[in-house]
Amino acid sequence: MKPTELTSKLQGIVGQKFVSDDFAVRWSYSMDSNIFDSINPTPPAIVVRPANIEELQKILFLASKTTTPVYVRGGGTDAGGSRGERILESILIDTTRMNKIIEVDEASQTVTVEAGITWGKLNKEVEERGWRLGFKGPYSGYSSTVGGSISVQSNGYGSARYGVCAEDLMNLKVLLPDGQILQTGSAVNPAARRFYRYCIGPDLAGIFVGSGGCFGVIAEVTLRMYPKSVKAAFGAYGFKDYESCQACYYRWLKTREADHIAWFAEDGLEVNAPELSEDGYISLLTFAVEDQTPELVDARRRLLEDIAKEEGGEALDSEKYAKGDWVYRFELLPRWAAKIGQWQWNCHMIPAGDALDDLKDILSLLKAFKSEIAKYGVKHSTVSIAHKNAGHVSTSLYYDQSNPEVVSFVKELSDKYAERAITKNGGCNYWIGKMWYPYTIMRNPVYRETLTRIKKAIDPSNIMNPGGLALPTDLG
Ligand SMILES: Cc1cc2nc3c(=O)[nH]c(=O)nc-3n(C[C@H](O)[C@H](O)[C@H](O)COP(=O)(O)OP(=O)(O)OC[C@H]3O[C@@H](n4cnc5c(N)ncnc54)[C@H](O)[C@@H]3O)c2cc1C
Repeated sequence: MKPTELTSKLQGIVGQKFVSDDFAVRWSYSMDSNIFDSINPTPPAIVVRPANIEELQKILFLASKTTTPVYVRGGGTDAGGSRGERILESILIDTTRMNKIIEVDEASQTVTVEAGITWGKLNKEVEERGWRLGFKGPYSGYSSTVGGSISVQSNGYGSARYGVCAEDLMNLKVLLPDGQILQTGSAVNPAARRFYRYCIGPDLAGIFVGSGGCFGVIAEVTLRMYPKSVKAAFGAYGFKDYESCQACYYRWLKTREADHIAWFAEDGLEVNAPELSEDGYISLLTFAVEDQTPELVDARRRLLEDIAKEEGGEALDSEKYAKGDWVYRFELLPRWAAKIGQWQWNCHMIPAGDALDDLKDILSLLKAFKSEIAKYGVKHSTVSIAHKNAGHVSTSLYYDQSNPEVVSFVKELSDKYAERAITKNGGCNYWIGKMWYPYTIMRNPVYRETLTRIKKAIDPSNIMNPGGLALPTDLG
C-alpha cells in the first residue's frame, strides 16, 4: 500500500491531527539520541500517535495486513542505535500520548501504567499517592518512557538497591505484530489481578525486556511500588588512590543499603569538579539513601559512612557533590551536555569487584587518543554507577555535533571503546543496538539462532523493527 493510502487509513484510526507523512514531521523523528542516528538520520515514512490500546491495535492490524514495517518510539532517547534497516519504509508509532496511570493497586503494591508515560511523570504521581518506585528511571527520565526503558533494559536511579528497571516489572500487556493482545504473569489468568511476574508458566515478559520493539509493542506495564520515603541522606568521599576507592565502592554495593552510588574518575573530576582535581583527588564516590523512617535513613547512612572512613575516603561536602545528582536526577546530563556539547555514552556492565580494572583500562584507551581528543575539543567523564552486584562503567563523550570531522572521530573512538570494553574486560552491554551487536549477538551463534526462531514464531512477516536485533532481515 502506498504511504498516502496508509496515511488516510491511519487518519481514520487516530484522527487527522495525529498522523503525518509531512517532510518536516518525518525528519523530526529521524534520529534517536545516539551517534549512529546523528551520522545517518533515517526518517520513517509515516508518524502516528495513538491515544490508547484500541487505536494501537488497529494500527497493528493495518501494518500486519499490509506487511508494513513498524518502529516504536517512546522518548527517542535510545543511546545504542536500535533502529533497524527498514525504518525508511516504516510506520513510526510514537507512544507518548499513551501516558496515563491505569491503576495504583494498594492490595498488590503495584502500579499499572500506559507504556508511553515518562519516568518524571510516573515518579511524581506515585509519590503523590503515598508510595515510591524502587528503580526510579534512567538519567533521561524526564523524556524517556517506561515502555522504552523495558525495551532497552534500562538501569540508573535506585539500581544500587532495587536493581534495573525489569527487576520491578510484574506484568506486561503487549500488542503482538498481528494485533493480538498478550498478557504476561498473573494476568494470564483472566480472574487474577496484574500483580506478579513469576507464576502460571514460563516468564514471557522476559522476551520483551531488551527486545527493542522487535517482538511487539508494549502497551501497559505493571511495576512494584515501595513505601514512600520521608527522609534522604547523602555522602561524598574523595580518594587519592583508586584501590581504596574500589574497596569502598565494592563494600557499599555489598551492603545493598545505598539507593544510589556513583563513582567519578579523574577525567570526570576535571570536567565537573576541577577543584577536587586541584586538591589531588582522583576519584569521587557518592551515595544517596532514602527510606520510610528517619531512623532507617540514619542507620543506613552511618553504615556507609563508616565503610568510607575505614577505606580511607575523605568526607567532602555532600550537599555540593552528592545531593544534586539525586534530587535533580533527570536534569544532570542534559545540563552538562547543554554546557559542553552533544553527548555520547558507552555504558556497559561489569562485576562489582572488577570495576577498577575496567575503569583503568578505559582511561588508558582514552589516554592513547589524548592528542586527537584535544585536537577535536572532546571532553570526557568516566563514571561507574552501581547496580546491586555489578556496576556500569561508562565514559560520557561531549562533542561538537555540528563538525563532521569531530563526529567521525567520536564514532571511531566509541567503536574502539565498545570493542575494548566488551571483548577484553569481562563486561557486557545492557543497551541494545549497533554499537554492541558485533561483539556479542553476532559472535554467539546459538543465542542468535534461538532469537531468530523466536522472532520467526512471533513475527513471521518480520514487520517489527526489522534488523533491530541484528537478526537476518529476510525472516519472512
Ligand atoms: C541524557 C541521556 C541519559 C540517559 N541515561 C540513561 C541511564 O541512566 N540508563 C539507561 O539505561 N539509559 C540511559 N539513557 C538511554 C535511554 O534514555 C534509556 O535507555 C531510555 O530508557 C530509553 O527510553 P525511551 O522511551 O527514550 O526509548 P526510545 O528511545 O523511544 O526507544 C528505545 C527502544 O525501545 C523501543 N521501544 C520504545 N517504546 C516501546 C514500546 N512501548 N514497546 C516496544 N518497544 C518500544 C524502540 O523501538 C527502541 O528500539 C540515556 C539517554 C540520554 C539521552
